Amino acid sequence: MTSYSFDGELILRGEPGFDDARVERIFNRRLPDRTPAAVLRVGSEQDVVAGVRLARERGWRVAVRSGGHSWAHWSVREDALVLDLGALRELGYDETTGIATASPAVQGGAELAPFLAARGRMFPGGHCPTVGIGGFLLQGGQGWNARGWGWAAEWVEAIDVVTADGELVHADAEHHDDLFWAARGSGPGFFGVVTRFHLRTRPHPRHLAHTVQVFALDEYDEVMTWLQQIHGTVADTVEIVAVTKTDPTISPDPILIVTGLALVDDAEEADRALAPYRTNPALGRALLHVDAEPTTFDKERATQLEDNPEGHRWVVDNAWLAGTPDEVVPAARRVYTTLPNDAAFTIWFSMAPLRELPDMAFSVQSEIYLASYVLWTDPAEDAQHRAWLDRAMADLEPVTVGQYLGDGDLAHRQLRFLSDDAWERLAKIRAERDPDALFVGYLAGPTGATNANHWH
Ligand SMILES: Cc1cc2nc3c(=O)[nH]c(=O)nc-3n(C[C@H](O)[C@H](O)[C@H](O)COP(=O)(O)OP(=O)(O)OC[C@H]3O[C@@H](n4cnc5c(N)ncnc54)[C@H](O)[C@@H]3O)c2cc1C
Repeated sequence: MTSYSFDGELILRGEPGFDDARVERIFNRRLPDRTPAAVLRVGSEQDVVAGVRLARERGWRVAVRSGGHSWAHWSVREDALVLDLGALRELGYDETTGIATASPAVQGGAELAPFLAARGRMFPGGHCPTVGIGGFLLQGGQGWNARGWGWAAEWVEAIDVVTADGELVHADAEHHDDLFWAARGSGPGFFGVVTRFHLRTRPHPRHLAHTVQVFALDEYDEVMTWLQQIHGTVADTVEIVAVTKTDPTISPDPILIVTGLALVDDAEEADRALAPYRTNPALGRALLHVDAEPTTFDKERATQLEDNPEGHRWVVDNAWLAGTPDEVVPAARRVYTTLPNDAAFTIWFSMAPLRELPDMAFSVQSEIYLASYVLWTDPAEDAQHRAWLDRAMADLEPVTVGQYLGDGDLAHRQLRFLSDDAWERLAKIRAERDPDALFVGYLAGPTGATNANHWH
């Protein structure tokens, strides 16, 4: 057997510290029982190469952890070697090309965003500041203003990746283009370890302004029907979200909050971009109305952190919706108006009008993204929250076309997440690149991932 030495630390199952290493940095504390064979706290890029080779030699499969934020704990895999990339913290920017380089565990909002903002640049990272860019980018990446600026994966210029053969390669549109294609959308089905992302950046918007309209849930039907009728007409500089949550500073009961965040260069442009919000027929009954007021990313991110607290148990699910308002609004009534506790929230995120996607694995979307998040702390409540969410998502099936991997759990509910062509192409590339299935692939229960809506 080859002897391996690591810059980081290899902890085998049963050794002191293994229990912590198994689930460290995992956001969702409704932890699984799955027990990996070992965890390698990677200390360098070379450790990743050595780790992949070690796994092959020992007959272990390979799982990867970057930011630890996947809801379904995708990095905690039975009998696998977990490559924990948490200690790789590279962050760089080349001002001649506008390209940033970042390690996969770098947090998109808390680390990459301020680093780039100091240089007048921006990358459309995830909304919650602590999400790692690794898992986020591999599955598509619904960052700030994905509606107008596209999926974050579209901003990936190249990746450095350790293949199933244990080789470190640079993949982009011209080199190892199969890996480059697959890395932009296959998510936890990817069969390599990305050690570095090369990311295009854009100028930081000079002016951020938001419109916020808050309603009692009685207004749900009228407001959401109106929103679905107009969202495709709003300027593509505006991120459009409608969320139901509880905010005791506004009302003791859950409320519906419709927001438009304009990412523009001056107040006049923001005012024009947000004007369609003034056509909301229920506006006279708003509990609170903020119109095109200046805001900052720091403030927006602080709200995200409040809504997504650490140390909780979570169930999360999502659906891409399609249909007329008469079909969609009633189907979403339960998930919107019957939240099971004061911390739960449901979001409706506009992607309309749909932009054409480049050639990459990520390939299923629709004009409306809906995701629901339930969080609590007492394990005794697990079953009731799971049941509520399952029921609410079942109501949506008639208007559901698929799901986004980022808020999904294929082991619990299978939905379509790639086009049929992309699914076929991914299987072919995987068979060539990782014929021995060294990488764990999708965590999808005994049937494996089907890429089909389960009710079909
Ligand atoms: C609070 C919160 C807010 C969120 N907000 C958003 C949001 O605004 N937009 C959005 O799109 N998503 C969002 N998500 C979902 C999030 O993007 C995904 O859960 C994503 O998988 C997290 O990436 P990670 O690296 O932190 O997770 P990890 O659990 O570390 O990684 C998930 C899986 O991705 C694969 N992977 C990760 N890194 C690598 C790598 N370097 N090489 C190969 N495979 C790798 C592995 O299969 C790994 O198990 C949010 C999640 C949370 C918990």
